[in-house]
Parts: sequence; structure tokens; C-alpha cells
Amino acid sequence: MKEIILAKYGEIALKGENRSTFEDILTRNIKRRLKNLGSFQLSRRQSTIYIEPLDDGDVDAAVEALKCVFGIGAIQRCAVFPKDFETVTENLSYLKSALDTAKTFKVEAKRSDKSFPMKSPEIQQRLGDAVLDAFPHLGVDVHTPDVTVRLEIRDNGAYLSAERIIGAGGMPVGSSGKALLMLSGGIDSPVAGYMMAKRGLIVDCIHYVSPPYTSERARLKVEKLCELMTGYCGDIRFYCVPFTEIQEALRDNCPEEHFTVLMRRMMVKIANKICSRDGYGAIITGESLAQVASQTLPALYCTNAAAEFPVFRPVIGMDKIEITEISRRIGTFETSILPYEDCCTVFSPKHPRTRPKFEDILAAEGAYDFDSMIDEAISKTEMKRFKYGEETVFLD
Ligand code: ATP
Ligand code: MG
Repeated sequence: MKEIILAKYGEIALKGENRSTFEDILTRNIKRRLKNLGSFQLSRRQSTIYIEPLDDGDVDAAVEALKCVFGIGAIQRCAVFPKDFETVTENLSYLKSALDTAKTFKVEAKRSDKSFPMKSPEIQQRLGDAVLDAFPHLGVDVHTPDVTVRLEIRDNGAYLSAERIIGAGGMPVGSSGKALLMLSGGIDSPVAGYMMAKRGLIVDCIHYVSPPYTSERARLKVEKLCELMTGYCGDIRFYCVPFTEIQEALRDNCPEEHFTVLMRRMMVKIANKICSRDGYGAIITGESLAQVASQTLPALYCTNAAAEFPVFRPVIGMDKIEITEISRRIGTFETSILPYEDCCTVFSPKHPRTRPKFEDILAAEGAYDFDSMIDEAISKTEMKRFKYGEETVFLD
């Protein structure tokens, strides 16, 4: 009996003429994910990528990895047979592990090969009877079964399965271009990166550090987050920008109450230049409206005005609880809550202005030559690459 994984398209299935471009990217992304899991042969037809393990292909591990690949709507693990109903019913033992622990089931049949002699209702009926014979402890429940047994009669075979997993959804990473995520060590920004990768963006990360005010450990924590994000985002380029001198200049030359917004404008100005230089089409942040003083509407206005690229803030309308839920689900939460400092908290004013006036901000910023400091910081920026599947050990 041969086992195969079907990766069924999510939104790509709705695409028209340019669909094959999206399929190519999804296929490439799947190949990259499976690279270290043995050999697989991929082919595609009928809105599905067929992933067939060759001798050493690890199907369990492949299913796990595919759960994180954007563009896949559903993952189905199937046994594949010739299109002969008797052969299928003789091999129902394939369903054993799923059905032994179940109490109820139903059958769903789909016949996309219309030349197959039985119609779907008849397949459902007869397969249901055969399942009941083979697993007499089961009852039928067509509304909320424990297990749905599926038989699909496709162009190239009959596919039997008892396992359909909801995929990561969204669009394949790389199909929407690339953007630069401002990644702090917190909970929100990794979630923001995940959400935009889900819309097909390649997400690379920029992080600002202020040694000695921020520690090496704090930076390593952010690098760890990058590594974790590769599970969904694929390979990530990481820019680490030295921010100490700019922060000290802000502290020494600008009104304290404006420090937070001015600092955020500096971050955005640096991101602008890196976007222009390296071809990013947008900036992503983990800002959430009203969460902290820098995320009030007037503060966001001031920060946003420094941006020369679209700024995507996918968590802007989400509560911390909702963001945290996603963070747990994607596996970044435990690292995000490690208690290391961020440069945002360095020199942060006791009473930041929650309603900064844009003219005041511009006046404060104009009092010093920050432009050359920005160029200097960019010239000293370090760059690393995090590759999916390559674990880096940073933290105990
Ligand atoms: P997070 O949103 O990741 O939990 P946070 O809640 O501490 O961080 P802020 O400090 O207000 O939020 O930062 C808001 C956003 O600004 C972050 O989501 C992130 O996009 C960006 N940001 C903050 N600090 C940094 C940093 N050191 N490097 C890069 N981006 C940063
Ligand atoms: Mg936040």
C-alpha cells in the first residue's frame, strides 16, 4: 500500500490566468521545507500538490512541516490505489489507527473522474457498509462524526484517507514581494511578521540594539525569534542596527517627553533607507492601537509621517490576548516573554506625551543633525541569515 500526502490549495485555487506563478512558488516552498526530511516527488494537478515519499521520505515529519507552509488550505494523508472499488475495500486496514479510537464516522466520496462507474452517493453507501463490517464498534454520525473517511476518485487513482488537517492558509511566501519587519523582542512583532508572511510576503527583520544599555542576551533572544519564525516565513535576513549613539543624541538634545516618538521616527527612517537600498516594498510593525504611549493615534501619526513606504501593522486592531494566542500557536511566545531589555525602554521618559503635536516633533528633530547619524548606523549594521531547518543554539 502506498501512502501519499495531498496538499490542497487555499486561496490559490481562486486565481485565474496567473495561477501557475503562485503554484510554482508554492511548489518551491514545499520542496525547501521537505529538503531535510528525505526524498519526495512532487507533482500537481486538480488544485493539489501530490507529495509522494520515495524510499527515505519521512511522511510524519513532512506532514508536520507542511502545516506551516502558507498557501496550503488542507493537508490530506492518503493511501493510493488503482481506481477499483474492491481493492479499496480490501485495504481498509489503512484506516485502523484513526478508526480504532473513534466511536462514530461518516464517509465522504468525491468523484472527479466522471468515467468511474459508481456515483458519489453509491460510493458513500457501499464504502460506509464496508467500514462498518471492518470496524463493527463504530456507529454512523453524518453531522459530527469523530472521523470522516474520504475516498476521492481522481484522474490518477483512488485516494483513501481518514485524516485531513487544516493548512496554514494564506498565500505562498514570496508571491507578494518582500517587506522589512521591525522586530523587537516582544510578543507582538513576531506575530505581525507571521501575519504578513501569511499574505505572501518574504519577511526579513530589522532590529535596533543599544549596547551597553541593551545586552548581548537581548539581541540573541531576538535572533532566536528569527530562527523560530523561519518555520512559517522561510529563510530570514536579519539586520542588526547599532542605535546607541542616536538614542544618546536624542536624550541629550531633545525634550524628554518626545523621546519615544522621536526614537521611533529614527527607527523608521533607518528602515526607509534599507528598504530603498535592498528592495523592500513595505515596513511591518507590531504596533497595536492604544497599547502604549507610542501607539496612540497622534503618536502613530508622527511615526507614520517618517515612513516613505507603506507601513503594515497587522495587529493594530487586536487585543493583547488575541495577539498572545497567535504567539503561543506559532511557538514564539515562550521566547518573547524572556525578560531581556529592549532599546525602547532605554531612557524612556516617565511621562511620555500621548498626544504629541507633529510641529513640536519636527522642531525637536530639526535641532540636531540626525541624518548623518542615521547613515553612520546603517554603515555599521550587521547582517545575518537564518535558514529554515538549521537550528542555532543561543539561549539556555
Ligand atoms: P512588541 O510589539 O514586539 O511586543 P512592544 O510591545 O514592546 O514590542 P513597542 O516597544 O511599543 O512594543 O514597539 C512597537 C513596535 O515597534 C514593535 O512591535 C516593533 O515592530 C517595533 N520595535 C520596538 N522595538 C524595536 C527594536 N528594538 N527593534 C526593532 N523594532 C522595534
Ligand atoms: Mg507591542
